[in-house]
Amino acid sequence: MKRQVVFWAFGAAAVLVAIFVIAKTKLPWIEPISPTAVLRKIIQPGVTFVDVAREAGIATGTANQLLKSAKVKYDLARIVSGRELAFVFDNLTGEVQGMVYNIDSDNRLMVNKTETDWDAELEKIPYEIKEKEVSGTIETSLFAAMNSRGLDDRLTLALAETFAWQIDFAADIRKGDSFKVIYEDRYLDGKYVMPGKILAAEFVNDGAAFRGFYFGGTAATKAGLPAVVLTKAGYYDETGNSLQKVFLKSPLQYKYISSGFSYGRLNPITKKIAPHRGIDYAANYDTPAVSIGDGTVVQAGWNGPYGISVLVRHNETYSSRYGHFQSLARSIKVGAKVKQGQVVGYVGATGEATGPHLHFEIHKFGALVDPFKVAVPPGEPVADADRAEFEKIVKSFSERLVK
Ligand SMILES: [Zn+2]
Repeated sequence: MKRQVVFWAFGAAAVLVAIFVIAKTKLPWIEPISPTAVLRKIIQPGVTFVDVAREAGIATGTANQLLKSAKVKYDLARIVSGRELAFVFDNLTGEVQGMVYNIDSDNRLMVNKTETDWDAELEKIPYEIKEKEVSGTIETSLFAAMNSRGLDDRLTLALAETFAWQIDFAADIRKGDSFKVIYEDRYLDGKYVMPGKILAAEFVNDGAAFRGFYFGGTAATKAGLPAVVLTKAGYYDETGNSLQKVFLKSPLQYKYISSGFSYGRLNPITKKIAPHRGIDYAANYDTPAVSIGDGTVVQAGWNGPYGISVLVRHNETYSSRYGHFQSLARSIKVGAKVKQGQVVGYVGATGEATGPHLHFEIHKFGALVDPFKVAVPPGEPVADADRAEFEKIVKSFSERLVK
């Protein structure tokens, strides 16, 4: 009997100790209630910020306060449909505590409640970066080669854009071409978001090897020096020459001929030198064609055998012509300024054309020249002051590119 009492006493004490320990560690197996909740809203076409905020249950007055406080840093009237607005609510009171809007893939606007007001900040999206590398050989298309390795189409396009001044990705990619890419992938909260920068790449096209190394530009904050940008951020070859040139290699860009993101299926695009020393690109109707360089439109509209065509004057030396369009791009008219890579028209068969194709010419001092033989001036090279820094980058990636 006495024994039993002792037994139960010990038992009760043990249970009490256990409860005490558990209470001290705050019941670790029960999730603490999060103090905030995040509501994400995809912006629909034609809606305003206040519309989205109200849909999220925020009072119009508060939504207007958010709009007003944000305006010093970013005008929320410019929000773009398809992007996301995230609102942070207090879980207990249900009051909005702040909001986040991704302005682009690099920057975001944060608005947070302070004791008396709202505080707006622009900041870099804090991605977690993982460095990756991939290599491959092309059998059918660059998209197919990248896809078979499970790679993001955005990386494929970034690779084509890196060498858009060296290689005609629309027409010149061949079976047996190969590539090696060292790049960054971006993660947020442990989840893959998108590819980041290509750090270094090599592309072998028809036996010719091209290499590019990313240089982030001059920090120029070395003690005592004025913050002048000496070298522009961008891609340079191993000798420090810019990959960017005054003219793109082709008026047809990979991103427009890849039929959206349909895997491995490319429109059949071939090019041939026409007797009149232009290049004819066979391409599907409505394929966008871009200006190969910055310039001013000096002819836009019907022009005899060229049909609907555009002539862009680039500088005192060079002009380029694009013919047989189905239609012109919006805003393309005589006197309009165009940027390199800007769409000027859509492939058609107007004028003297038997089928849909783009007729492309380069003029030097008003005379036709062979576009394949034009020596295109490169952009500014890496500045002397940045050479040592750049060479370190080349050295660190060069060996990995050949492996
Ligand atoms: Zn032609």
